[in-house]
Amino acid sequence: MKKRTWIFLAFSAGTLFLPACIKVRAMADLALLGGSVWTGDGGRPWAEAVAVRGDRIVAVGTSKDIRRLIGRETMVIDLGKTLAVPGFIDSHTHFLDGGFALLSIRLREAKSRDDFVARIRDKAAELAKGEWILNGDWDHQQFDPPELPSRDWIDAVTPENPVCVNRHDGHMVLANSLALKLAGITARTPAPAGGEILKDPRTGEPTGILKDAAMELVTRQIPGPPFGAKLKAAEAALRLASENGVTSTHDMAYGTGNLTVYRELLDSGKLTCRIFLYVPIVEVEAFSRLSLKTPFGNDFLKIGGLKGFVDGSLGSATALFFEPYTDNPNVSGLFHPDMIPESLMEQRIRAADAAGLQVAVHAIGDRANAVLLDIFEKVITQNGPRDRRWRIEHAQHLRLEDMGRMARLGIIASVQPYHAIDDGRWAEQKIGPERCRTTYAFRSLLDKGVRLAAGSDWTVAPLDPLAGIYAAVTRRTTDGKHPEGWYPEQKISLEEALHAYTTNGAYTEFAEMSKGMIKEGFLADFVVLDRNIFEVPIEKIVEARVKTTIVGGRIVFPN
Ligand SMILES: [Zn+2]
Repeated sequence: MKKRTWIFLAFSAGTLFLPACIKVRAMADLALLGGSVWTGDGGRPWAEAVAVRGDRIVAVGTSKDIRRLIGRETMVIDLGKTLAVPGFIDSHTHFLDGGFALLSIRLREAKSRDDFVARIRDKAAELAKGEWILNGDWDHQQFDPPELPSRDWIDAVTPENPVCVNRHDGHMVLANSLALKLAGITARTPAPAGGEILKDPRTGEPTGILKDAAMELVTRQIPGPPFGAKLKAAEAALRLASENGVTSTHDMAYGTGNLTVYRELLDSGKLTCRIFLYVPIVEVEAFSRLSLKTPFGNDFLKIGGLKGFVDGSLGSATALFFEPYTDNPNVSGLFHPDMIPESLMEQRIRAADAAGLQVAVHAIGDRANAVLLDIFEKVITQNGPRDRRWRIEHAQHLRLEDMGRMARLGIIASVQPYHAIDDGRWAEQKIGPERCRTTYAFRSLLDKGVRLAAGSDWTVAPLDPLAGIYAAVTRRTTDGKHPEGWYPEQKISLEEALHAYTTNGAYTEFAEMSKGMIKEGFLADFVVLDRNIFEVPIEKIVEARVKTTIVGGRIVFPN
């Protein structure tokens, strides 16, 4: 549509005969009208209409207000019975890896051993000799009965292709015999610190399952993908983000290489989701030398800060607890290699703070969270108050006293509501009911005054904020066994869940003055949902779909 500018001769109120000024009022490029707009703005949470010019919101109000800004070239979206909300901010994804997963083997849907093996056999048939089979995101809890896969299952169908497929939480992989051979792993290989090599209790031979730090023994043998493949993966991830209304995401990258991929997409106008990139905390020295305070970049692409790990995951029994696992009294979790020795994390966080960098640290078990808060508290107390917005990724199992501590220290809980309805199927067997009471404890965190930023941890969970919102407000586990909600006292309201996916995500990236709300002057990032989720029964939220996604005033879905 062409733009047209209206020129008004305005007359000052008292002197009708003299032109006081010549005012140029540009019409809106885009207007959303005649429906419900949840703005996320505490001062005015609801509106009927919005006008956009360029990449910014220029007016929010009634349809009557906004109609005055409609010119011949304004694109008008009639909201009708739909609902417009601020664009979703997914505060924790592994975005590029997710893109690779979309383009590679899918084991998440495998519900049995036969299905799992068949999918790997089919993939091997597509590949040339020597090519790796990677990703997969399998979930052995879905097998009946749940059992960890082993290399014996797949060796016969993958004689010429090394396999390294990961559990969906990224804390375990299954390697076939060829991959173990390339990595030099035998019955005599000791587990590295912070990792585990599962061995057959009868033969002592490795089963192919490698946990946490042990995964690296195999993954370092895998040749890196060429740049073109990374671009394709990123484009696939961007498409999925737009389909699901994700207009910004925080990419928890495992290296610094993602930046060049996003940069290329930014330059060619293809970056349709704003990226806030975290790089591994091992890079702290390099960042300090650059004197690069975070966030650094532009509205579409920023370096956000540094990401570290304290422990593993619940599903892999590597999340670090004070007490042993209920189903395995010999195990209470593992420190991640970032914590070995324990003083290393403190040194790095101290260095990050001195350099003005934000940190985001993964902590799942109650002990992992407590240890991390000890470090945060020590550094903050020594260095004094500053607007840090440090984050704990997952903050999954917390002692009540640590929630109060988080609030006091201003630490953001970066949580993934979908995990609650996914892990809620089996978490109680692993850690017992007492610890489950303060697991994914979103209500308690809010009540204690902790800010919640929500995300998916995609590919661990679907890149789908509506699924996360549904999880946060219903806590209905995916197996249908908790219709009233799993630990229902931890449910939060729809409005609180929406804030976690919008305004709080923006705050987490120091951008609360430019995004996360539908407000004049803010970036024009919205999502139009096909129904007003405030008006449907709460369990029906899961049926809502994204109708339109707009980033910086541009419709990116459908396109
Ligand atoms: Zn993650």
